[in-house]
Amino acid sequence: MVLKVTMLPGDGIGPEVTTEAARVLEAVCERFGHELDLKHKKIGGVAINEFNDPLPVDTLCSCLDSNAVLLGAVGDPSFDNHPVNFRPEAGLLRLRRELGAFANLRPALLFPALAHSSPLQPRVVAGTDMIIVRELLGGLYFGEPRGADETAGRQSVINTMRYSEPEVERIARIAFDLARKRRSKVTSVDKANVLECSQLWREVVARVAADYTDVKLEHQYVDACAMALVARPASFDVIVTENLFGDILSDEAGAIVGSLGLLASASIGGPVGLYEPVHGSAPDIAGRGIANPLGAILSVALMLRHTFQLEREAASVEKAVSETLDAGYLTVDIAPENTRPVSTVEMCDQVIERLE
Ligand code: NAD
Repeated sequence: MVLKVTMLPGDGIGPEVTTEAARVLEAVCERFGHELDLKHKKIGGVAINEFNDPLPVDTLCSCLDSNAVLLGAVGDPSFDNHPVNFRPEAGLLRLRRELGAFANLRPALLFPALAHSSPLQPRVVAGTDMIIVRELLGGLYFGEPRGADETAGRQSVINTMRYSEPEVERIARIAFDLARKRRSKVTSVDKANVLECSQLWREVVARVAADYTDVKLEHQYVDACAMALVARPASFDVIVTENLFGDILSDEAGAIVGSLGLLASASIGGPVGLYEPVHGSAPDIAGRGIANPLGAILSVALMLRHTFQLEREAASVEKAVSETLDAGYLTVDIAPENTRPVSTVEMCDQVIERLE
């Protein structure tokens, strides 16, 4: 298979972690007999410096002409006083919109070797392996009308939560299809006791579930789900929810399984998938060669699985990461005190050595 990928290293530690993730992708292609067509383009602060645009046309065209995009991170404190449209983050927001990805997938998997970095007790967090499917293009973040209004000298503001049946149906199908390939359970999260939006959400999800009789569906209110995530995280398989609830719950789930440096994400549903670690550009450690590359490497596993349907290859990357951690190779963010952390490059070398 030919894998056509655009790589956007971005700012800060972005280039350090994506260089390593690309090495893993190259090694997978070599071992499994695929051809990698990889283009490097600029986004974020580095693109503003060179092209005066956080998402240059050439970058966007390359992304739209690829099967998948691998992004590092954007963000640089030197742009903090620039107008919003000329900040690195504006490039990423525009890219997400242009790619039309409506489903954000955030796995939260506890690697046994990292049980010590979870804020929860080992017996509570053991066995946690869930994926949160967040609706990404609707709800409160995009609903109209929105904005401020002033009447008789008093300001009021409005945001609108709006969902249509097709928007709920398409994200529900992504969740049920995913559950079929995992442990066949979907938890749909809403606030149907208060919000009409959530009542429609629940109705449509239940209707879609009728096409997936092999998948168990449960409904949970968002407040109950927030509690259950810390009380019994291992009970979840696939969680599907709307934009705002998903934004909050996916960060909570990420914190439960440990370091930010390990978390991967996929944004799918449009013609081109976007894969990126959850962390930012980490200017405090950039250029020192100590960043954890696993979030970016695990994003490559998601790309292999969700864009290219290469399950064996994706599982091989995940297994190599797990074995590397089991063997005690830990970067500075996850290494216990009094141990020698490995560098970004060493960590990746160890993962590549363990690939099938
Ligand atoms: P951050 O994720 O960059 O860093 C938070 C903390 O986690 C820092 O102490 C950092 O050193 C550490 N960290 C992050 N990733 C790590 C890794 N891979 N290995 C080891 N340690 C790691 O968040 P921040 O400091 O709030 O933001 C810095 C910049 O990144 C800002 O400009 C922000 O806008 C941007 N940002 C970008 C994205 C993105 O590109 N998707 C996401 C979040 C923040």
